[in-house]
Amino acid sequence: MSDQVNPYRLASRQWKKEGTRISVKGVEIGGDELFIIAGPCAVESEEQLDTIAAFVSSHGAQFLRGGAYKPRTSPYSFQGLQKEGLRLLQQASLKYGLGVITEVMDLSLLDEVYPYTDIIQVGSRNMKNYHFLKELGKVNKPVLLKRGMDATMEEWLLAAEYLLVGGNEQVILCERGIRTFDDSTRNTMDIASISLAKELSHLPVLADPSQGTGSSDLIKPLSMAAIVANADGLMIEVHNNPAEALSDGPQSVNFAQFKDMIPGINATAKIMGKKSPLTPESKKEKVLNY
Ligand code: PEP
Ligand code: MN
Repeated sequence: MSDQVNPYRLASRQWKKEGTRISVKGVEIGGDELFIIAGPCAVESEEQLDTIAAFVSSHGAQFLRGGAYKPRTSPYSFQGLQKEGLRLLQQASLKYGLGVITEVMDLSLLDEVYPYTDIIQVGSRNMKNYHFLKELGKVNKPVLLKRGMDATMEEWLLAAEYLLVGGNEQVILCERGIRTFDDSTRNTMDIASISLAKELSHLPVLADPSQGTGSSDLIKPLSMAAIVANADGLMIEVHNNPAEALSDGPQSVNFAQFKDMIPGINATAKIMGKKSPLTPESKKEKVLNY
């Protein structure tokens, strides 16, 4: 296989024909069932996270998302609850039986965040932080690698290659929209990249229509489109009161909007021959004793 044709090797389908399945917290990512991550953009308070975790778990989401350390464009914006945010994620995950995914913004925070998260989220702004990727290649925990907002498919897969070549085989790709000339949406959700990444690579591919569109109205159609494009799952920002959210309110669906998307998501999953964990009717409170 020549360098020109295929600069990434370990990430390629040529290297590994069958899709990679990653088991974490009793869930298989890249398998027959959609993987659903839901939760707020940022952890804001105990009450906020508990309310959202209770809601998303009762509708079948397997993982809770929420930034404890947030990469914000402005230094004046809410930066996250940091250590307290991590503690709240752990508390909600134990209470509701959810896995946790949260972003590690840089190497200096890896040791602190590591014990609190089941999947390490590498943000779009860090996809080209190659030194960081090398270090995460040594880690024995799944990494969700967001596509850089200015990254080509090849750059994205080469970023995944950094993790794989370092020895971490638990890599999940996540399309989250790219910057284009069109500013009518926050980013341009590149649905084609989902199908293409699945063709070119054996790694599981998720879609994040929240960062991808910036608009809560567009989450339902784009989630369905992503599934039809062969996504293995979705990462969706959900808030109990989006108007008051401290981060990414306009792109966070409220509880009614989340419920409203479930039948469409389940129907498209079925078309694609996949199961969906989501249930439109709230399951009985799935509260674990802890
Ligand atoms: C997020 O998931 O809230 C986030 C900051 O994502 P991204 O790195 O894709 O912008
Ligand atoms: Mn966000």
